[in-house]
This record gives sequence, C-alpha cells and structure tokens, in this order.
Amino acid sequence: MKIVRYRHKDRVAYGLLKGQDVWQILGNVFGEFREGKREADLEEVTLLTPVLPSKIVAVGLNYRDHAEEVGAKIPDEPLIFLKPSTAVIGPGESIHYPRMASRVDYEGELGVVVGKRTRNVAAEEAGAYVLGYVCFNDVTARDLQNKDQQWTRAKGFDTFAPLGPWIETDLDPKHLKLQTFLNGEVRQSSSTENLIFDCPQLVSYISHVMTLMPGDVIATGTPSGIGPISVGDRVDVVIEGIGTLTNAVVSDK
Ligand code: MG
Repeated sequence: MKIVRYRHKDRVAYGLLKGQDVWQILGNVFGEFREGKREADLEEVTLLTPVLPSKIVAVGLNYRDHAEEVGAKIPDEPLIFLKPSTAVIGPGESIHYPRMASRVDYEGELGVVVGKRTRNVAAEEAGAYVLGYVCFNDVTARDLQNKDQQWTRAKGFDTFAPLGPWIETDLDPKHLKLQTFLNGEVRQSSSTENLIFDCPQLVSYISHVMTLMPGDVIATGTPSGIGPISVGDRVDVVIEGIGTLTNAVVSDK
C-alpha cells in the first residue's frame, strides 16, 4: 500500500492512496492502523513529506557503478553519515541553493523508512523493522564536501533531503530500477541490484551503531551519473514500484 501524509483543508493526516483517491487512516502508521473513510481526490490534497524522521542515516559509495565512476575502491563496510531532520522536504517543495555553495548535486537514492525501534537486529530479521520505501534525493554541496574534512555542512543544508512522494509498503527492494531526471532528461539510470550493501544489511549494520526509531530514514546511496543542479532546474527521482519525487531548485533568500 501507499501511505501518504497530506493536508486537506485544515487537516494534516496520514492516509492511504488507492488509485487517485486518498483514504483516511485510523490509528498509528507506526503501530496498529486501519482504513477509514475516503477523504478526497489526490488532486484535492497537498502531499507532505510522508515521514518526519528523527534522523536520516545516509550511505556513501554504495553502488558498484558509482564507486567505479569516482575511482573509489569497493568499501569493506558501509560508510555512513547523518543528515539532519531539518533538511527534509516533501514532494513538490523546493530545494534552496545555498549562498555558500558553488556546486550542488542531485543524488537519486532509494530510502528505507524504519517502522519500529530497531537495535542490534540481524540482516535476516531486518525486514520486520521496515515500514516501506521512498524516493530520496541526497542533495549535496559538492564543493563543500571536497573542502570540509567531514560532510555535515555539505549534506546538511535545509531542504537537502527531499523524500516521498509516499511510503510504498509492498515492495521487494532487491531489483528496482532507479532513475534521476534533470529537467526531464535522464541522468542516472541503475538498479538496486547494483547496491554493494543491500537494505537488510544496512538496517542491520546501522542498528549495531545507533538505535533506529520509527520514521527514521536510511538513504541507501546513489548510482553513477551524479551531476550539478542550478536555480530553475527540476529534479525527478523515479523508482520502480514507488513513483516519482519531484522538486524544483530555487535560490536561497
Ligand atoms: Mg548519497
């Protein structure tokens, strides 16, 4: 199922997207819930970020094709870093190009949404801790990433974590086509089968470092084809079985 978070009139809520209809959810999407009444047409609601994570754990260099592209050797264990919760924006919201950056890149990625408190789980058990999957854009100030010794600034600007457009819960993440389009032209085209560490391995590995909380997001890494964005651009991250996450780029005020 597709879990959306939406605004309709004055109401902000979770719902289920069925075809072009949004249905209410009764209960807690991170616990017990069931379907309620039909709320509205998809066109009548504003989709919001489908999740408000306490943290985003992102993975660097996790696609074979991207490691080759940047001339890096295949890592022995996942390289993880954090993006702040304040970087999150939802579908249709704008990426703000920071004044202190001169090169900003898109990175289309599969995002894993954690469903429950997760600590020290084995990869074989990890699926039970996952609520679903989203499209994710790990927006990166590349010049600052190269300049700084660590990535907090380069990866952490407000609006640098677009995710959505909804959470797809019925999905096997092993063989999904992942594409990123810049102004309608394809720039990244790969498959999650090129992941070096797959989703269960990442959930397990990270859960042995830090407790993952319901709603936390793991950004699983980007394939080859990264490149710059400019003010006025539109980025679409398209993942088979999930949908399309679209965000425009605007100048920071
Ligand atoms: Mg990335």
